[in-house]
Amino acid sequence: MPHTRDIMIALSPSHPCTTVTFMGSSQTSGKTEIGLNFMFGMIELAPDSMAIGLPNHKLIKRFVKRFDKTAVEMPDMAEKLRPKSRKDADSQEMKDFPGGTYFFGSAESPSDGASISTRYIYCGEVDRYPPDVDGEGRPDELFETRRTMYGNASKAYFESSPGIESLSIIQRRFLDGDQSYRYVPCPHCGEKQRLVWPQVKWPDDKPQQAYYVCIKNGCIIQEYEKPRMLGNDVAEWRATFPERSQRHRSFQLSALYCLPGLGKTWGDLAVEFLEKQKDKNSLKVFINTRLGETFKDDGEKIEWERVKERAQPYRLRTVPKHILVVTGGVDVQKNRFEVVISGFDRRQRETVLDHRVLPANPENPEDWAILEEYLCRPLVSETGTSLRPECVCIDAGYLGHMVVSFCNANRQRRWYATRGSGSSTRPLIGRPQKWKARADGKVDTFGGDFYLLGAKNAKDWLYGHLQRDGKLNELGEYVRKPDERFFTSSTELEDEFYKQLCSAGWDPHQPRYVKLPGQDRNEVLDCVCLCYVAAMHPIVKMDRFTDDDWTKREALHHGLAPVGKTPDLFAIAPANAEAEKQQIADQFAAAFASIEVTHNDKY
Ligand SMILES: [Zn+2]
Repeated sequence: MPHTRDIMIALSPSHPCTTVTFMGSSQTSGKTEIGLNFMFGMIELAPDSMAIGLPNHKLIKRFVKRFDKTAVEMPDMAEKLRPKSRKDADSQEMKDFPGGTYFFGSAESPSDGASISTRYIYCGEVDRYPPDVDGEGRPDELFETRRTMYGNASKAYFESSPGIESLSIIQRRFLDGDQSYRYVPCPHCGEKQRLVWPQVKWPDDKPQQAYYVCIKNGCIIQEYEKPRMLGNDVAEWRATFPERSQRHRSFQLSALYCLPGLGKTWGDLAVEFLEKQKDKNSLKVFINTRLGETFKDDGEKIEWERVKERAQPYRLRTVPKHILVVTGGVDVQKNRFEVVISGFDRRQRETVLDHRVLPANPENPEDWAILEEYLCRPLVSETGTSLRPECVCIDAGYLGHMVVSFCNANRQRRWYATRGSGSSTRPLIGRPQKWKARADGKVDTFGGDFYLLGAKNAKDWLYGHLQRDGKLNELGEYVRKPDERFFTSSTELEDEFYKQLCSAGWDPHQPRYVKLPGQDRNEVLDCVCLCYVAAMHPIVKMDRFTDDDWTKREALHHGLAPVGKTPDLFAIAPANAEAEKQQIADQFAAAFASIEVTHNDKY
């Protein structure tokens, strides 16, 4: 692969730069081979210690295997790496040789990142690193601090295929460097150009016959002509900012530069593109892994300011006439409960009715009365009737056993414990499962129920709608009028509500929703999604409502039409309210008491 030569030169001890970044396509760009050459080259030319960081232990294992296999093929190298005594390290985590040690570390454990000082750093597949490890900072930066004391004598190599733009570490590093692109000559007119995807064309329905159209003169370049363009005698890396090259060389390369026989042809890529463009997430994967570019999606990041801008002037805790289902979502945190109450209309569109942060110590069973009181507090409809959330989902991710006990005691009120699952195949809400762990960690066969949620699907639903609500026409006006939007919020809500609502982005590498940089809280997002999940809970199932069901609710909640049947199915009748409340409180106390007892059993 001719393009690797200059990257290797930048990594050699004789080149003045201290940082080399390579953002390239997966498998075909030689990112890892360059890393291995860097490692073996330094043992030969300027031996010193190196920290090698990879996304996780599985990848470290695979990489070390490859390192060992390559070493065996070089007798001199194998000899240097051979353990001289039992004291010498030769393991998964370390390789000793005369002059230094190579340490392998996982980006998932921060202690691997920042312990010992090393002159060299190699961070592989950095866009697959977790964004922040235990609040200690970005793993690639933790690895990089190891070389601080070596200053200009140090050398670091960062490589990855990129992820989405707002999250990409390799992109940020690439932009910091001299931003070199590969320029190759057109075999027909000689014009040097960077190969870009829009210039790949193919006859209708025959993607396999794809060719490249010269950007200067429109010459047709066929796959078999590639070797005449790619060799180092004719092709070159051109830096966008050559003045930075002495400090940081950065390179970008796509799979369009594959030599025949060494990877995908233009035809293969065209076939893959047609297949993947059908779905946005697949298309992202194509752009990231084949084109070696970040995915630019204007709708990707939802701007909280824009969502706030669409807020409507209505009072919180007042239920508009068209809202016919009211539900709640609760997130339990160390020092508070966060609650969102939402309503849904006939078209299952969400309107936020309240957001509240209730300071409390949820570890203290008595503090749960604060949440109970709040959830029981009625909301007032526009027509003067009172409503309570008819179903509430409470996230059991923290203090799960207490959430489950609380919900168990409040089953009649339809308060349910839930746990999020990132799996994209999981339905929004499934069947209840038994909560197995007791407060003391033992299996509790009498434990309450909880529901596993398709958290990804819920976020897809919300963000998909927020994006469509935010669409602008050519005049810069919202395409959807306020009453056509799927998500409605009140002007009474604070900025923090919107910031948290828009705090996540989809990362196709992990693949899951992750917190965007600079966002440390996202309870609102979870609560808003939980409200939707609650409305889809088997006991409500708003998606199955018939016209008749909706009309009945209009009468029930807002007194808008005469009804045959009288009772308010969802509110506790006033006469019994006190008695029932007491009964529930007793049950709840009993549930916690049983935990206490099991604790004491041990002594
Ligand atoms: Zn040409």
